[in-house]
Amino acid sequence: MSISDRLRALRQEIPPSVDLIAVSKFKPVADLEEAYACGQRDFGENYVQELVEKESALPKDVRWHFIGHLQTNKVKYIAPFVHLIHSVDSLKLLKEIQKQGASKGRIISVLLQAHIAEEESKTGFDIEELKEILQSGTLQTFPNVKVEGLMGMGTFTEDADQTRREFKHMAEIFEEAKQYEPGLKILSMGMSGDWKIAVEEGSNMVRIGSTIFGSRN
Ligand SMILES: *Cc1c(COP(=O)(O)O)cnc(C)c1O
Repeated sequence: MSISDRLRALRQEIPPSVDLIAVSKFKPVADLEEAYACGQRDFGENYVQELVEKESALPKDVRWHFIGHLQTNKVKYIAPFVHLIHSVDSLKLLKEIQKQGASKGRIISVLLQAHIAEEESKTGFDIEELKEILQSGTLQTFPNVKVEGLMGMGTFTEDADQTRREFKHMAEIFEEAKQYEPGLKILSMGMSGDWKIAVEEGSNMVRIGSTIFGSRN
């Protein structure tokens, strides 16, 4: 199947209320162009340099999502154009996004990455840290940052029960977070292997790579 065929098939399955981010890391510009020709406008990338190169090669109406670990010293390269940063995992990074947003005259939309995986290795804020950030008025000191919601990644596992448990937990955190910050609207969770469970548990934004573009080497 071609990229367009796989994209169309996927769109048939995903509810219209759920936004599909096509994760194109490591894939050549030609692959992104094929998805673009098929109507795809939201693309997700994990690496700053790769994102910057692709941004200059693709049409300007593409909405670029940064989904990888972001180093503070690299925020400046994506600040002029990035549509949504999903992976904000520290206050230090928020501060830098504020600084770069102010210097570019933009309000940059972000998601706070929540730690939901039962395994220890995944990054993100835990629930107590999220509460603290949302309750303390800290966000009001960042006028050039707009926190639009939360992002979570499940444990990489074959155990569907564990995945469901983690996504359920994430959805609870999202509901609780909205009580502190009613402006939160986006819950980004679900990838190729687990997006159906994520959507069943309340995700409204899925980040899908290999199902569209094929496996990465
Ligand atoms: C690579 C990646 C994805 C997409 O993964 P697939 O399994 O190929 O769909 C989604 N989210 C993040 C954060 C990623 O790094």
